[in-house]
Amino acid sequence: MSDNGKPKLAMYWASSCGGCEISLLNIHEHILDVDAIFDIAFFPCIADFKVKDVVGYPDGYIDVCLFNGAIRTSENEEMARLLRQKSKVLVAFGSCAYEGCIPALSNLTTREATLNTVYLDNPTVDNPERIIPQTVSEMPEGDLTLPVFYHTVKSLDQVVPVDYTIPGCPPEPHQIWTVVEAVANGLLKGAPLPPPGSIVGAEKVAVCEECARERNVKHIERFYRPYEINPDPNICLLEQGLMCMGIATRGGCGALCPLVGMGCRGCYGPVEGVEDQGAKMITAIASVMDVGQAGLHDEQALEKKIDALLDTIVDPAGTFYRFSMAHSMLQRTRANGHGRNN
Ligand code: SF4
Ligand code: SF4
Repeated sequence: MSDNGKPKLAMYWASSCGGCEISLLNIHEHILDVDAIFDIAFFPCIADFKVKDVVGYPDGYIDVCLFNGAIRTSENEEMARLLRQKSKVLVAFGSCAYEGCIPALSNLTTREATLNTVYLDNPTVDNPERIIPQTVSEMPEGDLTLPVFYHTVKSLDQVVPVDYTIPGCPPEPHQIWTVVEAVANGLLKGAPLPPPGSIVGAEKVAVCEECARERNVKHIERFYRPYEINPDPNICLLEQGLMCMGIATRGGCGALCPLVGMGCRGCYGPVEGVEDQGAKMITAIASVMDVGQAGLHDEQALEKKIDALLDTIVDPAGTFYRFSMAHSMLQRTRANGHGRNN
């Protein structure tokens, strides 16, 4: 608690797109409540704070820190360690901090390949001298330094202990406010807080349980891209051959995507009790694939039919692990001699 009686709030942005900050500002008039309840101790996205401000705080000075973004660089890791030290409650806010999200899809390749794609082999890049950022550049005026770009993107809890997690890409504003209000009541009125380690601002059940679409027995003969069919507005999308991760994904968003005809992409992470969202989804799909009579007497014909069906899933790794790669059992691919954690 600060000297003026107000709890201190911080929000920090590591490797992410900025959507989490917008989602916090998107809690409408409750943003005024946040301002009334908390002193903002560090929030570089909206006000001019410096890292040295945080360094100067005593340990535990920040009551609640909402940390969004994955750990992609040495700077991200240093800030995670600093904010952990200075915060009583550290919250992994959003999918990148929780499970790596889109940045962690680069765990499917190497650091070198990622840098080459961004700085060299991209049709929109004009880089005739083929310059790639270096961690140290010697200049006449002195050395210029940049953070180290890690080979493997990590989630926040793979670097420091995390007290709570709010899933979502980004988390839904109504869920954010529920959590912020609960934390404020805990700090100011001694109301009970969820046990440390909890996932808050979400449901325990799957997105399917929030989805109003009619579900029947599924027989999937092939998958379609969203532009290839005009789905029935009332029937389960997966049943119609549109990829929907609702079965494997934690609810809390109100099944927003299926509501408007798009399959759930999985941004709230795995359902309660499931360690690996992609594996859960692969298992679910395997149980509803319909290959007809193909394999009754001919194993080769069965394999061919299964391969043809699987070929209709565009980018399987990017589909099943779009948000959860860093936190999955795989974490990354082994490529060019790199193992799991380097
Ligand atoms: S699979 Fe998707 S469309 Fe089908 S019920 Fe679940 S969330 Fe709804
Ligand atoms: S439906 Fe799925 S992808 Fe869409 S917001 Fe909800 S959890 Fe995220």
